[in-house]
Amino acid sequence: MTKIISLCNQKGGVGKTTTAINLSGGLALKNKKVLLIDMDPQSNATSGLGVEKKSVEKSVYNILLEHVSVASIVRKTSVENLYLLPSNVQLTGAEVELVNEMGREHRLKNALKQETQKYDYIIIDCPPALNLLTINALSASKSVLIPLQCEYYSLEGISQLMNTIDLVKNNLNPSLEIEGVLLTMADYRTKLCNQVISEVRQYFKDKVYRAVIPRNIRLSEAPGFGQPIFFYEPQSIGAKKYNELTLEVLAEPPLEQPGSLETETLPETDQNNSKNQQVKA
Ligand code: ATP
Ligand code: MG
Repeated sequence: MTKIISLCNQKGGVGKTTTAINLSGGLALKNKKVLLIDMDPQSNATSGLGVEKKSVEKSVYNILLEHVSVASIVRKTSVENLYLLPSNVQLTGAEVELVNEMGREHRLKNALKQETQKYDYIIIDCPPALNLLTINALSASKSVLIPLQCEYYSLEGISQLMNTIDLVKNNLNPSLEIEGVLLTMADYRTKLCNQVISEVRQYFKDKVYRAVIPRNIRLSEAPGFGQPIFFYEPQSIGAKKYNELTLEVLAEPPLEQPGSLETETLPETDQNNSKNQQVKA
């Protein structure tokens, strides 16, 4: 059975696309057949996998509005086992154009019915909005992975996101679950970072992944080379942490004991870094 996971947070710039690309790449490297769907008109996942946005003639738009088949639009990527359903700027209009359409919230879900035997994982990169594109992604998904940036306002807006997830669960997709919460762009030199990590762990408890993604320049460079971090800079801390995330996502049921994450300390290397850096500071 295909597992469909949406990466969702209406806040912009929290690491949704970076996580979509690197989790998809990580799963593909573990011999899972993966489809990454770019549901964002910004098309960052598309370009981040080396596909020139302007060269995309048919995209998710044609699937949502014109009932074109997924298979006819899916592309191979440079990564074995990793396929892409690209976005393009046309998708910007989809939100408005979908409003008067029948079954507008289920368009993606229905289109993916034909595909469920083909992939082990389908990862959906959502736009930074709780709009019809995101609703389509959530209604098609088994679960939601929420990236949260380690910054002061990381939990702001989270109740709105949780309400939307509940609404979708109650009205469109009763089996929708929270896959996990991923802390991103951690900068252990700041006291705030550790404070935010512990607040998020208190709020989401064992839903928070052990892997915390640090701020890492290599992660921001990799999309420019159209590659997941594992190919661009496999020795980087970003690659190491996204590999740990991949292993956690693959582990079903989760490896952790109930409640153990509440008291969990930071991963060893990061904790040491953070200590050293705090001492120096
Ligand atoms: P949007 O809401 O606009 O779609 P997003 O949530 O998808 O944004 P990303 O595009 O993944 O966020 O990341 C925002 C910016 O931060 C990008 O320039 C990306 O390269 C950079 N970035 C993401 N994660 C990291 C990281 N761990 N370390 C350094 N830079 C990062
Ligand atoms: Mg994005």
